[in-house]
Amino acid sequence: MKIHRAPRFSGFCGGVKRAWSIAMRTRDNTEGPVFVSGELINNDPAMRALEAKEIGILRVGEDESPTQPGTLIMRAHGEGPRSFERAKALGLNVVDATCGIVKVVQQKAVKLEDDGYQVILYGHRNHPEARATIAYTKRGMIVESVEEAEALPRFERVAALAQTTALLSEYERVCEVLKAKSEVFENQGQVCAWTKMAQDEAEEVAAGCDVMIVVGGRKSANSHRLVEVCGQRVPSYLVETVDDLESWWFTADSVVGVTAGASTREQDVLDVIEAITAIGARHGDGTHGSGVAVGERAMAASRGHLSIGPPGIPPDRLEEEVR
Ligand code: SF4
Repeated sequence: MKIHRAPRFSGFCGGVKRAWSIAMRTRDNTEGPVFVSGELINNDPAMRALEAKEIGILRVGEDESPTQPGTLIMRAHGEGPRSFERAKALGLNVVDATCGIVKVVQQKAVKLEDDGYQVILYGHRNHPEARATIAYTKRGMIVESVEEAEALPRFERVAALAQTTALLSEYERVCEVLKAKSEVFENQGQVCAWTKMAQDEAEEVAAGCDVMIVVGGRKSANSHRLVEVCGQRVPSYLVETVDDLESWWFTADSVVGVTAGASTREQDVLDVIEAITAIGARHGDGTHGSGVAVGERAMAASRGHLSIGPPGIPPDRLEEEVR
């Protein structure tokens, strides 16, 4: 058995990595309760790890209040102005972990509305990032599909924005519809390049493998998307933890690809690689990858001696302007 891990974009994206570090640092350096403003990331094992470190969830934007003062970390997806106002009113010490790319979109939404545009954001109505961004406007709206854009009335001035993880091709179709419905149209959408690069890399790895394993949360949309992309090449499976692995997916001769969603911790990826290595050994073959036993590499990495894939790239290197 051979194991190939997607080398650059498997695991925490820059924004999530930053938010996670902020949460850990804040917990280590802060007395009293520490909260996050919602699920920091869409990954249950990671959220359980935060809980174990006594970092709770406090949805200030949904009228929740703490029983005693503490520190509130605003999550990477961002929060609307009401959450910041309520946190202040409740006397909470606020640490803002909003991803820089998301912050730029929020600022654009405010400016475009001030300039007289009807702001229309393409994204998911229930996604925290889309909701938070639109919360910075008075009249902004979210459309989830081309059909919803078509159903809108005409506006004199329209500015289009996108949820940062939106599918670019769909967003461009929405823009075409909105452009035809307005006298003046501004395309100010800014899509994060991380998702696209992770998908391209995963597909490339999958093309050289017999089976692909995506480590990611069951609720993580970008992890499911990776499974879809890889599934077009080879049988591909989503695993949240090692417990989800099935030995019948592999044979002694399998070439196994591994990638991970943007909200998957490095340790979860390493654990899965270790477990696949063990399955390979049980199938009667020495498991290896890139000339070094992956099991050894994973163990070394988990001890901090070696990284088998860069865990994150700063968000400011991931911006992709869409105009
Ligand atoms: S915008 Fe990109 S870097 Fe920021 S949190 Fe979202 S996926 Fe991660």
